[in-house]
Amino acid sequence: MEYNFQVDKEFAQDLDKQDKLNHIRDRFYVKDDEIYMDGNSLGLASKDAEESLLTMLDVWKNEGIKLWNIEQGKYYEYARRLGKDMAGLIGANPDEVITVGSTTSNIHQAISTLYKPTHDRYKILVDDLNFPTDRYAVDSQVRLHGYEVSEAVKVVKSADGIFIDEEAVIEAMTDDVALILLPTVLYRSAQVLDMEKLTKAAHARGILIGWDLCHAIGAIEMNFSTFEPDFAVWCTYKYLSGGPGSTAGLYINKKHFDKSPGLTGWFGNKDETQFQLLHEFDHQQDASGWQIGTPNLLSMAPLAGSLNIFKEVGMSRIREKSLHITAYMMYLIDEKLNQYGYKVENAREDSRRGGHVCLTHDEGYRISQALRDKGVVPDYREPNVIRLAPVALYNTYEEVYRVIEILEEIVKEDIYKDYSTKRHTVI
Ligand SMILES: *Cc1c(COP(=O)(O)O)cnc(C)c1O
Repeated sequence: MEYNFQVDKEFAQDLDKQDKLNHIRDRFYVKDDEIYMDGNSLGLASKDAEESLLTMLDVWKNEGIKLWNIEQGKYYEYARRLGKDMAGLIGANPDEVITVGSTTSNIHQAISTLYKPTHDRYKILVDDLNFPTDRYAVDSQVRLHGYEVSEAVKVVKSADGIFIDEEAVIEAMTDDVALILLPTVLYRSAQVLDMEKLTKAAHARGILIGWDLCHAIGAIEMNFSTFEPDFAVWCTYKYLSGGPGSTAGLYINKKHFDKSPGLTGWFGNKDETQFQLLHEFDHQQDASGWQIGTPNLLSMAPLAGSLNIFKEVGMSRIREKSLHITAYMMYLIDEKLNQYGYKVENAREDSRRGGHVCLTHDEGYRISQALRDKGVVPDYREPNVIRLAPVALYNTYEEVYRVIEILEEIVKEDIYKDYSTKRHTVI
């Protein structure tokens, strides 16, 4: 889409006045002296999340073990209830989504359920730009089946280290591939892969396919009902603002409900017979049947509050502002920062970029350090990427304007040179 932006600060202030989501910012713990652009690593806390967490603590204090039975089983059903809310964000059926585990453990759960290698079809297809934990999980899954990683993991390589070519992925869908795992939005370049096209191509070749939605959920609109992938996983602490380490999401397509979970536990048992405590597993045939142990309610409670905001606002309004505010950021970078060695390395088209801007600079690491000292919280990813996520629910256009001003100052006035290039463990 074409936007008409202007470079002055008043223009940014006008955009904030016109912003229909402006009032939602007050629901978040935004600091006066800090500009938070790291929502795609850990979303900010909201008052809604705090309230639902405190309510959960009260319930524990007041009810003890009885908490599982009060309010028509609200807490026993909690993982399903939040799953239903998240299903709404991806266009899935409510019973296809469960709140459980972590992204990584859910990859293990889904692959150990669906990966049934045969003599002729035994490979798992991945790309080389996905977040490393996905790859670690895939590698260990093929090893569990007795394969060497080099024989059973097929890697589609990015030609430029920035984007994945969808045609190359399709070409790699050969007869020996059993299963595919891909990211929906790439964590560095914010590229959005065409899930519908790739899922349909995989299914046409008899291959199962799963998606990692970590940088997509809460950022872009998705409609699983139109292409029905086999599984999907995601974390809830990035755009969904569920809190550090909040419980993750798992989507299992309904056509797989009759399969036995790869990793089985008593919370995947049918409700009716779970507390008979029999030694024969009686599989609950919906996504909740892929739960393993007792749901971690305290790690889900903040997510419940946060999801209420998503329900109230709706993904289409969130995506609309996100596209607009990231386009505005790219415009300012082009207008004001290119001359200082900064470059936008994400795709420009609306349909091909997620919720963050991938800004690169040869001195990206030192610039990120300087940004922090100037009250901006960015995210840095090797080798040279400054990730900036102006989040639709709580960032303003004026904040974007200010961040660009600071980025300019840091290079123009050689401020980054005061910093060391030595990497810290956690950045
Ligand atoms: C953030 C992220 C993860 C994180 O995995 P956890 O198990 O939640 O720690 C995994 N994959 C991708 C693509 C991510 O962006």
